Amino acid sequence: MDTSDLQLEQASRLARKCTRVLLSDGTLAPPDPASSHQVALRLAALPPEAQKQLERARLRIVVLDSETPPRGGYPGKVLGSPDRWEEGLGAQYHYQRKEILMPRMYLETPFSGVGDSLLHELGHALSDAKVVDRGRIMSLDDDPRLLELFEAYRQRCGFKPPEPKPGGHDFNQPMLLELERQEEAWSLYAVTEPREYLAEGLSHLLSGGEKKEKLASQDGQLVEYLHDFLIAPTRGGSPFGLWDPRPERL
Ligand SMILES: [Zn+2]
Repeated sequence: MDTSDLQLEQASRLARKCTRVLLSDGTLAPPDPASSHQVALRLAALPPEAQKQLERARLRIVVLDSETPPRGGYPGKVLGSPDRWEEGLGAQYHYQRKEILMPRMYLETPFSGVGDSLLHELGHALSDAKVVDRGRIMSLDDDPRLLELFEAYRQRCGFKPPEPKPGGHDFNQPMLLELERQEEAWSLYAVTEPREYLAEGLSHLLSGGEKKEKLASQDGQLVEYLHDFLIAPTRGGSPFGLWDPRPERL
């Protein structure tokens, strides 16, 4: 994606504003220049409108050290306050806190054709910010157009719903999912849920390179959807009705 100077300048300002680094004593500090720069590169891949929507939603990106938990545990109890960031666990978007928890090691992954963790989480944050509220709380997961594309993708990949088992399935283990036609899958994780399909799509599209080419050749309709999605206006509301704007944030 072409990045205009204006887009990068806006992204750098937003990155400094919304990024915090979680220190070992559990407090949050302003971002170091390297973290801020890495965040700005991802934000700059978004159109200016989408950047503004994230700013209005008061998104916060918390860069953390996933090797050593801070005093008091990680914020948000996303995973029941684990003592350690579970192995293989990437970044997380926390819907109630409007917060991305971003392990530094993934942030520092070179920003090139690799599936990008932060872009994926920004996809969740954006769909949260763009949620439609017409008298009832509704999430983008309910968007009929997205659901149709998602189901068509599953069918192309030959997705077979796993046999029911006690305790449900661990969709964080997409390799365990059975796909008859795996070669059709531009992302395995995208078959798990509509919201992951959208976030993976966005990450592939904005990462550019081979990922983007593969997505465009295998799922052109999703690319069209994502272009509309990126410039779609926000209408307020929250998928779970828990949006609690805090007046002062770090
Ligand atoms: Zn996700």
